[in-house]
Amino acid sequence: MNRFISTLRRPLTTIVIILTLFLMVISKKIAVLSADPKGEKNCPPLFPQYMDENGKNMQIFMEEPQHQIEWKQVGGMINDASCLNATSVYGIAHIQSEKDIHEALTYARNNDLKVTMSGAKHSMGGHAFYKGAVVLDMLGYNKILLNESERTVTVQSGATWHDIQNLLHPKYAVKAMQSTDIFTVGGSISVNAHGMDHQVGALSRTIRSLNLMLPDGTVKKVSRTENSELFRLVVGGYGMFGVILDVELEITDNEIYTSKRLITDYKEFPQLFEQDISKNTDIGLMYMHLSTSPSSFLEEMIVYSYEKIHESDLSIPPLGEVGSVKLRRFAINIAKYGSVFKRFKWWSEKYLEPKMESCSITRNQAMKDGEACLVSRNEPMHDSVKYTKNRIPNDTDILHEYFVPRDQFISFVDGMRTLFQEQKTNVLNASVRVVHAEENFLSYAPQDSFSIVLYINQSTDDTGNEKMKKITQDLIDLTLEHKGRFFLPYQLHFTPEQLEAAYPELQEFTLLKKQYDPEEILTSTFYEKYFR
Ligand SMILES: Cc1cc2nc3c(=O)[nH]c(=O)nc-3n(C[C@H](O)[C@H](O)[C@H](O)COP(=O)(O)OP(=O)(O)OC[C@H]3O[C@@H](n4cnc5c(N)ncnc54)[C@H](O)[C@@H]3O)c2cc1C
Repeated sequence: MNRFISTLRRPLTTIVIILTLFLMVISKKIAVLSADPKGEKNCPPLFPQYMDENGKNMQIFMEEPQHQIEWKQVGGMINDASCLNATSVYGIAHIQSEKDIHEALTYARNNDLKVTMSGAKHSMGGHAFYKGAVVLDMLGYNKILLNESERTVTVQSGATWHDIQNLLHPKYAVKAMQSTDIFTVGGSISVNAHGMDHQVGALSRTIRSLNLMLPDGTVKKVSRTENSELFRLVVGGYGMFGVILDVELEITDNEIYTSKRLITDYKEFPQLFEQDISKNTDIGLMYMHLSTSPSSFLEEMIVYSYEKIHESDLSIPPLGEVGSVKLRRFAINIAKYGSVFKRFKWWSEKYLEPKMESCSITRNQAMKDGEACLVSRNEPMHDSVKYTKNRIPNDTDILHEYFVPRDQFISFVDGMRTLFQEQKTNVLNASVRVVHAEENFLSYAPQDSFSIVLYINQSTDDTGNEKMKKITQDLIDLTLEHKGRFFLPYQLHFTPEQLEAAYPELQEFTLLKKQYDPEEILTSTFYEKYFR
């Protein structure tokens, strides 16, 4: 009997040990995939010192240290949301007032230095800094004033949408912004951001006026009717014409919506939009997700819409933060590791997420029949996407966005699918937005368009960068074939020829830049690479 038990025990012990090790490895992996980031992520190549164009070390020498600038950082590095653009700078100035901006510009002019403004640094191609430049960190320049009688807010350009929503809630809401709330107003105007409100359109349409400090320190009021050329240049002008000071923005009511989801085929979408959605003025917000599961890749689509309900006696609870951050982060990150997990992600978006949706506003009838999920306008837009940040080493997720005329949508998606399958691109998310023709100078949409926003994973080594460069250039060629344009705040993998083909206004834009900023004091990695 004893002999029998001991023989049984050995394989059992082995199995238990293997199972324990397996569980330890799995739980370690789960912990890495869901862990909060330790801080800002920096990816190689990292240059530890301040270097000139030839890679030689340069000395930081503050010519006028007595000058009234509060430095957040002297010398050192800065990076953006891609983690791939670590850049040595002269220093980072802590901006809190108009006077601080004036001082910093004067200092830069006197010392022959370049200047770049930075907001939340979510552009991904070094748009918010330049090697050796003085960076104006605008985040502390963030006062917000509500003008109820005008139905506007006046905000300093370093304020984030998150802070503005907190002030406006529960009565009012932002009219136009990105689909998430982490960005600054200055950074958003500089790219002419757009988001979920398909009726209002891009941010530019909600700007009454703004004050702009030109590189020589003078201030100009800019709007559609006053200094209108500058207005068209500053909106979507990537900080090249002046520092945006305060802005007057239109706001709207914090309407109550029923949140709806419809699963459809991407080929049905253009018609669905033209015939139904665009005619229903009660739909206040909308966006679409295309499947990233291999079984229905870029074919199946979920249409998310928020339809106004005409009741006024419902009480709106305080704004909360998005919950289940670790779970959401895990779902995004696990999808990077193969088709089974990508299938699971799409399945959970279709079937699990509706059950987890937070429907903050309750109404007796709705509760009784369980038919409606009610939210206020601020809620879907009050998302600080903490779950997109992680601490996975040698890994980053990159945004792309392509705008195509609406009748080109189906063919564009088909072309995209082929490219991704050929190049085995690790697509984590693909969403679709509705965009109207925009009239700013470097407009990403000269005609009504659909835009396709992609979130693509890459390793941060040479192989990852080369792969991302190839797919970016191929996607841009595809966009150009479909008479479209690509969004400029992302990685600088496009060629100068592609930029010029997409934006034929480029030369005139550059000439005007030199007219308003003859010494080209305001610059960025993006400007230096393509506009010089
Ligand atoms: C995860 C993610 C999601 C996104 N979603 C959307 C979306 O839904 N819709 C959309 O349209 N875009 C989207 N974007 C792009 C985003 O809108 C831009 O990158 C935007 O510029 C980010 O704002 P920021 O505050 O981070 O600006 P930064 O990246 O800090 O700066 C961007 C540009 O603005 C300039 N700038 C900043 N402040 C000022 C100022 N006060 N005066 C003059 N110039 C200034 C900078 O010099 C720079 O050229 C997304 C980006 C990411 C990474």
